[in-house]
Amino acid sequence: MTLTDVTLSTIIFGPLGAVMIRCMMISILLMSLLVSFRLLVSRRKIGYFSIALALCLVLIQYGQLLGQAFSTESGETGIYIELLLKLLSFAMINIGIYQLYNATRKRDFIIFGLFLSSTIAISMTYWYVPVWLEGSGAQLSLIRTLGPELYLFLLIFLSFMLVNPRIGQNGKFQMMLTIYFAAHMIHVANVYLFGGTQAGLTLLELVVPVFFYIVLFLFIVERVIEIMQAIYNSSITDGLTKLYNRKYFYKRVSQYVLQKIPVSVLFSDIDNFKKLNDTKGHAMGDQVLKQVAQIIREEAEEIGVCGRYGGEEMVVLVTDVEVDAGELAERIRARVESETIVTVSMGLAAYHKGVSTEQLIKEADEAMYQAKTTGKNKVILFSA
Ligand code: GH3
Ligand code: MG
Ligand code: MG
Repeated sequence: MTLTDVTLSTIIFGPLGAVMIRCMMISILLMSLLVSFRLLVSRRKIGYFSIALALCLVLIQYGQLLGQAFSTESGETGIYIELLLKLLSFAMINIGIYQLYNATRKRDFIIFGLFLSSTIAISMTYWYVPVWLEGSGAQLSLIRTLGPELYLFLLIFLSFMLVNPRIGQNGKFQMMLTIYFAAHMIHVANVYLFGGTQAGLTLLELVVPVFFYIVLFLFIVERVIEIMQAIYNSSITDGLTKLYNRKYFYKRVSQYVLQKIPVSVLFSDIDNFKKLNDTKGHAMGDQVLKQVAQIIREEAEEIGVCGRYGGEEMVVLVTDVEVDAGELAERIRARVESETIVTVSMGLAAYHKGVSTEQLIKEADEAMYQAKTTGKNKVILFSA
């Protein structure tokens, strides 16, 4: 080949194109591996280990394919290893993705073990072709790979049926499976219908998996964001009532106070709660706390910030200036009285010039205390 023979099509369709695409693939894989490895180091979750392991398998697979681009003939063992890596890495990716969304129990390890060993067992059929199936050399090599190639279709089907319903990001996962399925179809069609010589299919066979690994990369990154979001959410909410915790509530109030926005703070405290705990038990107490929190959430979530300030003290920051905070408080009080076995005393304080966050909350607390000392189960507006 002289220099003038190098055209765009020889680059794209030729071995150089294959090398370029595979290098691209390896960079994407390395990036994904780096992310999962980084996560593995900091979070030590088995899911990241499985994903990292799967990516290592794929890297070896593509490293081997890249090596093949430089040598003309690949031996039987080479083909077998390539096939085995392809099956194992796909199975491993599915296991990893499953583990990213599910706590792994002992039973799961047995299933994964069985799954991986059956994958290896099926790949072994490569070496055992029944005598009556044997034909010429070329036919033999086609027959040898047939079992494992068909088995990969089964794996894709299984991951759609078994993994997809048990994870998040289903849209992305389904897209990944569709791409993988398409890539495998293209590969099988090229090998079995065209003897691996159809240039267009060969190119597609190289390019389509790139998209699979791009989406896989995005999947992992998105999962990391989800986990970080979940950690952040649990750091600002109370586990029992799912209302915001005191620290976050305080922060939100101070944001509004600093901007001098005319907000109101509603401070509620359950009446005679200690007695309820003593007579009906702590579990019942918790149940009632949840019920009251639910009522507060339903009434106030859209017009402000709801929090659990202390044991049985719940608070609302009314940020919607159109809302009458007194009416809101009365609605909550009445609902708690009619829907639960307890009542609440409530205090209400409105922002006024020069008030600090701490003072505003204290004023609402003081008003609540007035409600307690004047008969409970009522709403009192703070007045200086
Ligand atoms: P008052 O009408 O004056 O508010 O009387 P009270 O008994 O409600 O007030 P007090 O502050 O003496 O009691 C609050 C009780 O709330 C004490 C504690 O046992 C209970 N408590 C605090 N946090 C929790 C919780 O998370 N779960 C349960 N079940 N009880 C809690
Ligand atoms: Mg109380
Ligand atoms: Mg209290």
